[in-house]
Order: sequence, then structure tokens, then C-alpha cells
Amino acid sequence: MALKTAKLSVWQRLRLLWGRPRRLFMNIFRPGVVRASLARRRGECRRCGACCQLGLKCRHLKYGADGLSECVRYQKWRSSNCRNFPMSERDLAERDLVAPDTPCGFHFEPRGPKA
Ligand code: SF4
Ligand code: SF4
Repeated sequence: MALKTAKLSVWQRLRLLWGRPRRLFMNIFRPGVVRASLARRRGECRRCGACCQLGLKCRHLKYGADGLSECVRYQKWRSSNCRNFPMSERDLAERDLVAPDTPCGFHFEPRGPKA
């Protein structure tokens, strides 16, 4: 069974759509920030597929009979947005708009104090 998703307002959809170029910008122009953030990431993907439905449902997303998501491009090239999700707490918050009742398998350790 596919993931149960929330009904989103227009503004929420726009926020999710804006997240795409935001993450792309970070991946291309701020790779060090992304690496530092990913170093704080813990957990593993539960294959809920929520991050493949941010604003629009990706056409490469499928659900198996076991209810787990499958990316038909998984063995092929995928964008850094896909490979690195979630990159930050902000990504998780946006993803939670789509599936508030099904948590992502990842979380982030708090940032350490700045030296
Ligand atoms: S939202 Fe999290 S658990 Fe769900 S598919 Fe994406 S990375 Fe995996
Ligand atoms: S390409 Fe695959 S991983 Fe990326 S959003 Fe689509 S289904 Fe998800």
C-alpha cells in the first residue's frame, strides 16, 4: 500500500517546490556545508517515499506489493538532491508536511558549539 500523504495547501506546495532549487544550490555551491550536515545525520531510509513527493510526485516513484517505495532510477543516475536527502533538519520539516504520520528514518544530531 502506498504512503498515506497529507492534503497540502497551495502555499505548502510552493514551499516544497522551492525546496528543490534550494537543495540543488546547496549541493552545487555549498558542498562543504552539505557534507558537514550529512555528518550529523543518523538512521537509515525506511523507503516510505515521502521525499519523492515534495510538491509533485516523482514519475520514477513506484510502490511494491510490500508497501515499500522503489525508485526505478535507483541503479542509474540520480541527482544529488535524491542521493543526499535529507540534507538538513529543514529538509525533514518539509518532508514531514507530506507524511506527518510516517516519520523519516533519518534524524540529525544537534550541531556542536562553534569554536
Ligand atoms: S522520507 Fe526518509 S525514510 Fe522516507 S524515503 Fe525519504 S529518506 Fe527514506
Ligand atoms: S528519481 Fe527516484 S529517488 Fe529521486 S525523487 Fe524520483 S523516485 Fe525519488
